Amino acid sequence: MTMNTLPPVAKSFFAFCKKCDADRYHVVLAHTSATAAKIKCEICGSQKSYSLPKSQTRAGKPLTGVAAKKREESVKSRKSSHRNEYDMLMSNETVPMVTYNMKSKFNKNTKLQHPKFGMGFIKDAMNDKIEVVFEDEVRSLIHNRV
Ligand SMILES: [Zn+2]
Repeated sequence: MTMNTLPPVAKSFFAFCKKCDADRYHVVLAHTSATAAKIKCEICGSQKSYSLPKSQTRAGKPLTGVAAKKREESVKSRKSSHRNEYDMLMSNETVPMVTYNMKSKFNKNTKLQHPKFGMGFIKDAMNDKIEVVFEDEVRSLIHNRV
């Protein structure tokens, strides 16, 4: 049951009674604030305070549901597209394989064996650095250091 306002005093409304462990009619004894009331179970007579659910207020809603899910999916798809690119680059059998050493000079379109990051693919080579696609991410490494 959803309500935007508290039921008036002396009126009864359906609410969950912990003591009865069931939905029961509760009579409103008094309003304790704009969003809370003292109520009494009509069946067992137990008294409790009832507050309007906070989710009724639209402002300040946390980022849940669709918005949060969308965010999560965009991160996931970005990761998998990187993975696809990596797999595609590494599947090229004709590309030469070299071992990384910061003193050597590398060319692009070369497979690179790095002692820490593993196998990568040199996507771009500049004068002093190379852009390498590794399994987890693209890293910029120095090379041609003399
Ligand atoms: Zn009860």
